[in-house]
Amino acid sequence: MIIRIFTPLRPIRRRRRKAVPDEALRAEAKAWLIPRLAELASEHGFSYNKVFIKNNVSNWGSCSTKGNINLNMQLMRLPEELRDYVILHELCHLRQLNHGAEFHELLDSLCGGREKELRRQLRQYHIGANGASAS
Ligand SMILES: [Zn+2]
Repeated sequence: MIIRIFTPLRPIRRRRRKAVPDEALRAEAKAWLIPRLAELASEHGFSYNKVFIKNNVSNWGSCSTKGNINLNMQLMRLPEELRDYVILHELCHLRQLNHGAEFHELLDSLCGGREKELRRQLRQYHIGANGASAS
């Protein structure tokens, strides 16, 4: 009996970011995240100013004092419920620009009481080497 030992494939080396795949992901992100943000905002009675699709390694999303929402196009790599969680997180900042108790209470109510669980799940995903969070 011959036992062949296969060496596992070497992990694919990090290739240089190419414009095409990034642009495809950005297009997908725009087509999905922008209408989804509008939908969740109207469902829960939020109104934001502008939305921008970003590509950074520091956060999944952010909300400015001007009511502008930034969403990371890398969100498209996450399960849908985590994308929604990040969107809801940023929408809650329109009312609470901090991470205080009232913020978490509001977010938890919009997540059907699953805020902690979803936050824990989100931490398992990393955008860059240092990981990222919704801010
Ligand atoms: Zn935040």
